[in-house]
Amino acid sequence: MRIPSAPPESVWAPCGTCWGQRRLYVALVRGGRLTPRTCPACMGLGERLCAGRGAGRA
Ligand SMILES: [Zn+2]
Repeated sequence: MRIPSAPPESVWAPCGTCWGQRRLYVALVRGGRLTPRTCPACMGLGERLCAGRGAGRA
């Protein structure tokens, strides 16, 4: 018996770290100007690939 509402194996979700902006603005120096840096959480993609059920699919 199949479950039609089964989640996909993997889904793309917006990166919660950079909010989909693909970069983070950080101050290298305290009080200095903000410099855009590539978001380390999504590697600059703006989205993250999340496994649906943790299925072992490399
Ligand atoms: Zn990100």
